[in-house]
Amino acid sequence: MKITDLFDNKPIVSFEVFPPKKTAPLISIQPTLEELGRLRPDFISVTYGAGGNQQDTITIDLSKTIEKEYGIPSVAHLPCINFSKSEILSILKQLKENGIENILALRGDINPDIPPKHDFRYASDLVSFIKENGDFDIIGACYPEGHPSSANIEEDVLHLKKKVDSGVNHLISQLFFDNDSFYRFREKTARAGIDVPIEAGIMPVTNKRQIERMTSLCGATVPEKFKTMMAKYEDNPEAMRDAGIAYAIDQIVDLFAHDIDGVHIYTMNNSYVARRIHEATASLRK
Ligand code: FAD
Repeated sequence: MKITDLFDNKPIVSFEVFPPKKTAPLISIQPTLEELGRLRPDFISVTYGAGGNQQDTITIDLSKTIEKEYGIPSVAHLPCINFSKSEILSILKQLKENGIENILALRGDINPDIPPKHDFRYASDLVSFIKENGDFDIIGACYPEGHPSSANIEEDVLHLKKKVDSGVNHLISQLFFDNDSFYRFREKTARAGIDVPIEAGIMPVTNKRQIERMTSLCGATVPEKFKTMMAKYEDNPEAMRDAGIAYAIDQIVDLFAHDIDGVHIYTMNNSYVARRIHEATASLRK
């Protein structure tokens, strides 16, 4: 199922999962998927390792399992920087053969140890290529505080407009902890003429290591309120988990009250956390 039509009933709620490690079988994620599936999200997206290994079909396998075994639409992430055009064509064929109709088209992070293939420089190149070579619903990534490598947010929004014009039907945002940054971003994108739905990316932070890793990777601003919470509870894992869940719920309540298009929850494969958030916010969507 193509997911664009889901926005007729907004706000939507989607989850993100990552595939099990190469050494673990696909079945090891089954208990997580069973619980996430019971929450009936509008779709589940599956990340793709940026290594550029075409033989690595685990994202496709998992996306197929979500669709076929759990009856939930899936979105396969596809970073292009380390693939050639013929490799992407072969992946598109596999996606089609496995009944996957939704792709999150990404550039991928540039890894200094893996030389890029140069066929695709930006995600917008991949978006145009997918449009020319298949019938998929195409989703793009966006950055409420600007992509870390952009000179400034204004420049990033100009590039985003180009990406959307290449054929993106909806956007999913990078995680953020300050809703005002998302509302400012929404205004900027509207002024730039970007009129596709934008889902807000929410990452429930449940331990100290996670926040350190995430903020160094994506550069999200950490508000004082969040820092105070961390300082108070970081040495008490249960309290830290509950505080992180409460913070995410607080963000989502405010986002729904501001009539956003949807929320994309970075579940980190933690179905317990996803369930607690779901239970606290499901009635707000009615
Ligand atoms: P782009 O849209 O190409 O943007 C990258 C940079 O290039 C930006 O600074 C942009 O301003 C600039 N730019 C774009 N177009 C132009 C242009 N025409 N001229 C000049 N500059 C330009 N990575 C993975 O490897 N696997 C995943 O599964 C994955 N999932 C993700 C899911 C979400 C929701 C998000 C937000 C990110 C995800 N990422 C994933 C990370 C993503 O690959 C990185 O953030 C990457 O650095 C940028 O990807 P992009 O698709 O946003 O790139």
